[in-house]
Amino acid sequence: MKIKLCLLYGGKSAEHEVSLQTAKAVTQALNTEKFAIFPIYITKEGKWIKGKELIESIKDVKELTFKEDGEEIVPHALNASLALNEEKSSNYDVIFPLLHGPNGEDGTVQGMLELLNIPYVGNGVLSSSAAMDKVIMKNLFAQEGLDQVKYTWFIRSTWEAAPERAYEKVESELGYPCFVKPANLGSSVGISKCDNRADLENAFSEAFKYDRKIIIEEGVTAREIEVGVLGNDYPECSVAGEIVPKKGFYDYQSKYVDGNTELVIPADISAEEYTELRSMAVRAFRSLDCSGLVRADFFITNDGRTIINEVNTMPGFTPFSMFPLVWKHTGVDYPELIERMIHLAVERHQEKQ
Ligand code: ATP
Ligand code: MG
Ligand code: MG
Ligand code: MG
Repeated sequence: MKIKLCLLYGGKSAEHEVSLQTAKAVTQALNTEKFAIFPIYITKEGKWIKGKELIESIKDVKELTFKEDGEEIVPHALNASLALNEEKSSNYDVIFPLLHGPNGEDGTVQGMLELLNIPYVGNGVLSSSAAMDKVIMKNLFAQEGLDQVKYTWFIRSTWEAAPERAYEKVESELGYPCFVKPANLGSSVGISKCDNRADLENAFSEAFKYDRKIIIEEGVTAREIEVGVLGNDYPECSVAGEIVPKKGFYDYQSKYVDGNTELVIPADISAEEYTELRSMAVRAFRSLDCSGLVRADFFITNDGRTIINEVNTMPGFTPFSMFPLVWKHTGVDYPELIERMIHLAVERHQEKQ
């Protein structure tokens, strides 16, 4: 009997295109002797469309054109959940929400899948939403005693009421350079590095396009190192990988468009540094009550500080992304990694019953 795997991909998110790349790669890697794949495409408007032919229409994701020629399930998520249920949840053995950013990586879809009582890959409701909001995530990391950069945050209405006061707060508490980010997003969308007041003003406007809440962080000059974590109650870590951007910071362009950022795996770090990273990655994972997987992103500063930047609960997942590559170097290849994630989903589901 094949395992019936439902793939959710696309999503109503600024990271929609990234999800298409991931879905294509996962579909190609899954062993069709073992898995029967049922794709459901979520449009940028949030429509749910199902049909086998959908995945085939992602042949060349670079063009990012999409044939929506499947059967539309229903326009919004609540009805979609009913539609999934109508098909009998038993139609699917496991659901793989291959979604990045809001409305997919943030606990919303996870909550729906909890109600449907079907095992799903990746983090649960709480860890997904806590990790999606960088302010909440950093507050929880602080509680755990993990070293971080200084940060402050604003909601749009506070800024609009007194923009000068907001800029002054950033300048007195953090100074320059600083990074302005939408609180809830990923793939570097809406993030700016600021070196002066003019940059800061532009950066606030830009970040507020994506979210009603933004975070501003002290900028550090540091090496960027990432570690994959896999597991439920007993998380394991991959080798570390280093990101070496060719120019500027690791922005959307260098992540997905130019693709010329160098990934060095394993990262050239000392045994002590690697031990420290692993320990911090597991503490970060546990501090948000994560399950399944995360990619933990760190900075190692020139003066030797190891700082956690964030965890991503559904990191980029093409075969050329950091998370699968660090696992490959740890001895877990792409198809096996996917199967382990599916297995962890089922294990967590059974533990809850
Ligand atoms: P993703 O989820 O794809 O990893 P994201 O949108 O959550 O990305 P971050 O990882 O927080 O964004 O930041 C993106 C990049 O910006 C980092 O990889 C790094 O290059 C740079 N950056 C972010 N914050 C800082 C900081 N405080 N100091 C220096 N560089 C930073
Ligand atoms: Mg992130
Ligand atoms: Mg992310
Ligand atoms: Mg990151």
